[in-house]
Amino acid sequence: MTPDPDIPERVSPREMIESDLCIGCGACAAGPARAVSSRMRLDRLGQYKPDGPASWLNAPTRLLAKTCPFSPAAANEDDIAAARFPHALGWDPALGRFEATYVGAVADQTLRASGSSGGLVTWTAIELLERGLVDAVAHVGPTAGLGFGYRISRSPDEVRAGAKSRYYPVELSGVLNEIRARRGRYAVVGVPCFIKALHLLRAAEPVLAERIVLTLGLFCGHSKSARMAESFTWQMDARADDIEVFDYRLKDPARPANWYAAGLTLTTGERRRKDWWRMVDGDWGAGFFQNAACDACDDVVAETADIAFGDAWIEPYASDGRGTNVVIVRSPVVASLIQEAIEQGRLVLEPLTPERVAESQAAGLRHRREGLAYRLTWPRRGIRPRKRVPPRAEGLPTRRKLVYRLRAHIRRWSHRLFWIARVTRLRWLYILWAQAILGLYQALTYSRGPLGRLADRLVPQSR
Ligand SMILES: Cc1cc2nc3c(=O)[nH]c(=O)nc-3n(C[C@H](O)[C@H](O)[C@H](O)COP(=O)(O)OP(=O)(O)OC[C@H]3O[C@@H](n4cnc5c(N)ncnc54)[C@H](O)[C@@H]3O)c2cc1C
Repeated sequence: MTPDPDIPERVSPREMIESDLCIGCGACAAGPARAVSSRMRLDRLGQYKPDGPASWLNAPTRLLAKTCPFSPAAANEDDIAAARFPHALGWDPALGRFEATYVGAVADQTLRASGSSGGLVTWTAIELLERGLVDAVAHVGPTAGLGFGYRISRSPDEVRAGAKSRYYPVELSGVLNEIRARRGRYAVVGVPCFIKALHLLRAAEPVLAERIVLTLGLFCGHSKSARMAESFTWQMDARADDIEVFDYRLKDPARPANWYAAGLTLTTGERRRKDWWRMVDGDWGAGFFQNAACDACDDVVAETADIAFGDAWIEPYASDGRGTNVVIVRSPVVASLIQEAIEQGRLVLEPLTPERVAESQAAGLRHRREGLAYRLTWPRRGIRPRKRVPPRAEGLPTRRKLVYRLRAHIRRWSHRLFWIARVTRLRWLYILWAQAILGLYQALTYSRGPLGRLADRLVPQSR
């Protein structure tokens, strides 16, 4: 077969970074394409990037081309899922292959209260450990102050202590090294591109294939830089050094689950909370602090994971402040474990049609399908991503195009302006910019305020 000239046979870590395609997962720095001293480091914008000798960073290799989740030469989600779940009962264009799709939560109300959504990720991880299906679970917990990172838990209590979503950059190098060093069967929790990276690494390194036996996927809107937590901290009048606990999503059963509130516990014991909608960068969809690679992703629901979990952002579930999961089960082993727990009353799950699961992620899917198709028509430097969505701008209303353009602008400039504000200690610089750009974004997207009415007159939503 003649090689496709648009698909490089070899890529280097630097090329992936400079092409805005590095998500910072660590698959290069700690995978089979690693160097002795390669590692992951948070850059000045608060995002993980590979670091190591120039001879490694600049060297294109076939191995990296096959194992980096954003490499155009790597297997895509359809290929991976077809190999992993060849006998799946169903397929949906938004969800990929599946055995069953559900909505609900864990029956144990303490566990549900301690999870960000319905507590099902933590429940599943504990169940896998208790049934002896795995020896350990790699997931994300707090490190120090504002930080979060991957760690390996070997007991239910350790797993429980790591519950909750962390919209913070994390990377896999530490846990990959530990999995290599210590024999056992591991489950790994991760966002879609991390789970994809794990499968690509498993295909290249038998020891990882043997030891990583199950993957638990989290649906993903996009990844944030470390600066979002910092910005929230600024807006809650706290100093990063004074923070003992940072919680992206405090639960309040009396309020709808989708009214996110961030919470802080200071070293003095004082607690603070603030609603996301009152933060200048708390509108998730606007793209503040988003990793650039996420704009080249077409997997919202972790299509290659054995089981994947999200938030049920559809009514009546979104109004239930206790939190409700949507769940996509893909592997038969996990399917029977879930089915049994439903019959025993330990999980309160009911079937939800794939269409309704997709509906619960409508905004994320729009951005990753229609929006991605449009973004793929834009000129870009370096390596071009190869996606399951073909480039397409025709048929998209001008107003939607403006929304996608503005999101990309907010993504790019939020990193830079926050960096300038941080270095110069002129916080207002970032805050004022963010307030203004958020006003423009909400006017364009939701027709909000006088600016929204003006936008409706000039460029109606449907045109
Ligand atoms: C960056 C990010 C973006 C997300 N975007 C969406 C979205 O657009 N739509 C949607 O429906 N859901 C999204 N989710 C998933 C959602 O926030 C919940 O994690 C999910 O619904 C599971 O809730 P739970 O109560 O079952 O999990 P819990 O019981 O609270 O357990 C969460 C588990 O995930 C682990 N974890 C937390 N953060 C990370 C991380 N960054 N990487 C890997 N593991 C982690 C924890 O250690 C814990 O084991 C996102 C999650 C993340 C981390």
